[in-house]
This record gives sequence, C-alpha cells and structure tokens, in this order.
Amino acid sequence: MLSEFDLIKQYFTRRDRIDASGRTVLGVGDDCALLAPTPGMQLAVSSDMLVEGRHFLAGADPFALGHKSLAVNLSDLAAMGAAPLGFTLALALPGAEPAWLDGFSRGLFALADLHACELVGGDTTKGPLNICITVFGELAPGTALRRDAARAGDDLWISGTLGDARLALADALGELALGDADRQVAAPRLHAPTPRVALGRLLAEGRLAHAALDISDGLVGDLGHILTASKVGAVLDVDALPAGPALLRQSPELRRRFTAAGGDDYELCFTAPAENRAAILAAGTQSGTPVTRVGRIEATPGLRLVDADGAPLELKLRGWDHFA
Ligand code: ADP
Ligand code: MG
Repeated sequence: MLSEFDLIKQYFTRRDRIDASGRTVLGVGDDCALLAPTPGMQLAVSSDMLVEGRHFLAGADPFALGHKSLAVNLSDLAAMGAAPLGFTLALALPGAEPAWLDGFSRGLFALADLHACELVGGDTTKGPLNICITVFGELAPGTALRRDAARAGDDLWISGTLGDARLALADALGELALGDADRQVAAPRLHAPTPRVALGRLLAEGRLAHAALDISDGLVGDLGHILTASKVGAVLDVDALPAGPALLRQSPELRRRFTAAGGDDYELCFTAPAENRAAILAAGTQSGTPVTRVGRIEATPGLRLVDADGAPLELKLRGWDHFA
C-alpha cells in the first residue's frame, strides 16, 4: 500500500520540470511553493473543483479526468487573458490505486506540459473522489478581460464551436443515441475540453477585446453574467452560433438549444469594438481557434434572442445552476 508521501513523490513530483520553468523557485515538498512572476505583472488566480457524481460520472477514465481537471482551470485563465504560471492540486481519494493515479497524473501532466504550467504543490487526503485545482497566471496591469467591461456597440464573439459537449452528455445519459462516428467527435468535447489560452492572451495583450468569460454552464446563462456586471444588454443571433460538427447533424431545434444553453463547452465568449474585427479574426488564425461573431451589446438591459432573419426567438433555456 502506498503511503501519502510515496504517492505524492511517485505521481505528483517532477523536480526537473520545476527547475526548467524558471518561474517556480520551489515546488512540491516544502510548506509552500515559491513562484516568481515577471516583475510588474499582476497575478491571476482561480480555483475549480470537480466532484464525482456531480461534475463527472463514477468510473470516469482517469486520464481524461486529469486532463479535464486542469483544462477547466486553464480555461479561467484564458477567459481573463492571463499566461499560465503554475497550479496546485488538492485531492481527496477513496484509496491509493496505482492504475488510477498513473492515468490521472499522465492526463494532468500532458496538458500541463502543453501550457508550460507546472504543478507546484497541493494536498492529499482520503475521502470521496474530489479534485480541486488552483491555477496561477500573470498578465500586464490593465489588460485583464473582465466581465464588467462590455460596452454598448461591442460585437459579441464566440470561439470554437458549441454544443457537442452537451450532445455527448445527452448520449451518455441515454437522452438520445449517437452513431459511432458522431460519438467519437462529440465525446472528447465533453471529456477533454481545450482551454483557449492562446486566443485569450492575444485578445488581452493586443487589447482587442473588452469583456470575456469562458462558457461552462451554457452560453445564455454565462453571457448573462457579462450583461449584469457591465450593466448592458445584448442581441444574440442564435442561428449564427457555431455548432459542433456532431450537433450540426441533429435537428435545428436541438442545435439551437445545445448551442445556446448546452454547458461544458469551455469556449470563450467575448465582446469587442467593431474596429477590431480584422485583428480578432487574425488572432483566431494565429491561435488556431476559429472565432465567430454572433451578436452585439446594446445599452438596453436584457438578452434578446433572434433567429437568422432577426426575428425574436422564444426558447425555453436555462443555464446550469447547482442549487436551482
Ligand atoms: P503539510 O504538512 O504542510 O500539509 P503535506 O504533507 O500536505 O504538507 O504535503 C507535503 C508536500 O507535498 C507539500 O509541498 C505539498 O504542497 C505537496 N503535495 C501534497 N499533495 C500534493 C498533490 N496532490 N499534488 C502536488 N503536491 C502535493
Ligand atoms: Mg497538507
């Protein structure tokens, strides 16, 4: 049986990586990690917790879970426009199971390495499976993409595509049955989301966007946070929303529902002045992340959904709320 300290040493300690980054003065093993942000930069800090039975199903693939636990945190850095520095991992485990720990840590570190974001510390305890990561990033003062910064007249943009994660969940829950080809396309969107870190950084560093957030609980609900914080409203062209390739093959009705309010997309929703359109498209190309214009911010409060012809659309939609 692995002891707590053997477990940490074997699966979560990578001294060579810590030393190579130069941004971590001291990593796993002491009472605190020591980070060295670039002088003059602000720290961006965010935590996300994943609970078995709530955020993922019991028996979920450990490699995918390792990826997703970090991905949802990096997505918050992306939504602020911050560059990743490092992260901590607080883990409650029912038992020290080598096969699970091996898969989980490999999935976690594969994504960490893609973003040069090193694990610098954490906590490990016995308990129902629960994964809490805190990420640290940095950005230049005044460049953060805040939720309260949208302005009337801004374009409304979405990165990537929406809805395939929700489609994969519907398939997993038996709400519908996907064919093999569509399942293979949609399932990775649910289990292994791609944090849009490069795009977020370009939007912030180039001062191209005003407000942004990452879409985790469904676009309509999440966009509402920007509108409330910024004291503005928006017109959203639901038929302009970029549907994932699997969702594109479903009915128009399902397409509207899952793009507008699907959840688990981890795409960026951002607002930007119209004069930045060309630069934003270029940032999309440079970061390998398609970007689509889907509406505009208006002074009148509230969210107005319209169809391709601009006619008002009545959709019964609601974002995800754990306590509703
Ligand atoms: P403390 O006695 O201060 O609570 P711990 O015994 O919990 O410290 O942890 C020992 C070291 O291992 C610390 O540096 C801590 O940050 C690190 N650590 C603990 N659990 C993890 C984990 N799951 N991933 C990475 N580092 C961890
Ligand atoms: Mg501790």
